[in-house]
Parts: sequence; structure tokens; C-alpha cells
Amino acid sequence: MTKKIICLFDVDGTLTDPRQAIKPTVEKFLLETVQKEFDIAVVGGSDIEKIKEQLGGKSIFEKYKYVFAENGLIAFKDGKQLPTETIQNNIGEETLQDLINFCLKYMSELQLPFKRGTFIEFRTGMLNVSPVGRNCTTEERTQFYEYDIENQVRQKFIQAVKKEFPDIALQYSIGGQISFDVFPLGWDKTYCLRHIQGYNEIHFFGDKTTEGGNDYEIYESDLTIGHRVSCPEDTVKQLNILMALVKEIKERETN
Ligand SMILES: [Mg+2]
Repeated sequence: MTKKIICLFDVDGTLTDPRQAIKPTVEKFLLETVQKEFDIAVVGGSDIEKIKEQLGGKSIFEKYKYVFAENGLIAFKDGKQLPTETIQNNIGEETLQDLINFCLKYMSELQLPFKRGTFIEFRTGMLNVSPVGRNCTTEERTQFYEYDIENQVRQKFIQAVKKEFPDIALQYSIGGQISFDVFPLGWDKTYCLRHIQGYNEIHFFGDKTTEGGNDYEIYESDLTIGHRVSCPEDTVKQLNILMALVKEIKERETN
């Protein structure tokens, strides 16, 4: 019996370069080669509009079986939206405000080489906190990212929030170059797995699979077979290996 397999992809750093649109060669490979063998799906931490920008607008729902934005809090199956929850209902308005206020206060005292705008983005299931501000240019993103590697701005920020709110069941993850996410415990990318049914194997591909990275929990999950990738080209390479392996198993079964 042939196994039913779905390949689930992280977006930034896995299918696309950070915050960029998918390259035509990568997309062509997914749609014309991979999709012949497996169903394909995507899970990103960003909101649905950003993921649409990166993966080809409205037709995204025709290309991917499942589209998960915000770790799966915003979920579409065959283009139909599935029911959702919100962070304010989960942790309560008062706690949420304490958290927002603490982050704003912390950032107001932070000295960086430069700051831009949009320091906290409110999403359905998480807060996205950016010390440098989300409105920075691509070049400024890279600059901040390098500064952050040297100075651990995001790591230190997370430690401070944890210390301030030790009793709230929150989880933190550093994804991308300029921000980190704060969300209720369990609302990492494994959240989306509750929506995926009817497969023998879920193969997950992600680039931030080490502890603290936003692909860590889903990569380690017992429900998935994890693939660690370094860039979109590496994703293509690993898909080719997976397809060759599955083909070999199929051939062995029929012989
Ligand atoms: Mg990524």
C-alpha cells in the first residue's frame, strides 16, 4: 500500500529568502514535480497577507492543500478558512495589556544603532515584537540582524519578559531577522498539525529547527518527520532525495 504523504513547508528561509517572494524555479519545482507525488502545504509565522505576497496572491489556495498563517491560528484547507482562537481570549485582556506595556517600556529604554516604526504587531494568536521596528528596509533588516548576533538584543529582551511574567504560560520564539514572537504555550507551529488529517506521514521542512527557533517544536514533534534546511535551494535538494527514496520503496514493494 502506498503511503499518503504531505510535505509541509516553513516560508521564510525554507521556500523563500527572508521576506522575499518565492523564486520561479523553486515554485515550478514544487508545483510541477513535488505535487505529482505528495500534497503540499505551508506554515508561516507571518500574517496571511504577507504569506500571500510571498507565495503568489489569491492562487496560493490553489497551489497548496493547506495554508497556515500565524503558525496555523489562521488556517485554510482547500481555500476554505477553518475556525480560530485569539491571544486576547486565551490570556485575557488585562494580562495582554501588561505584556504590551512592559515590552513598550523595555524598548523605550533600548539604545540601538537605529530604530524605525511598528515595534509591536498584534496578530491573531501572538504578539510580534521588533526592537528595531518592522518598518525598516531590507538593508536595515540585515544590519540589525548582524547587530543582534553580536549583541543578543532579542535574547536579552526575551529573558527580561520571562522574568517579568514567570506565571503566565507563554512561549517565545525568534524567527526571521528583526523580531520575536510571544504566544500562549503550545501555539507554536505544532498548532497547525491539529488541522492536518488523513496522512500516513507529515514531512516538515524548516530552517530554524534548533531550540528557540520558530521551527523547533514542529521539527521535533512526534507527529512529523523533520527536515532541516539551510535555504530554498537546500529544500529542493532534500525534496529530490525524499522523492528518490519514496520511489525506491514503491519499486521494492511492487517487485
Ligand atoms: Mg524560517
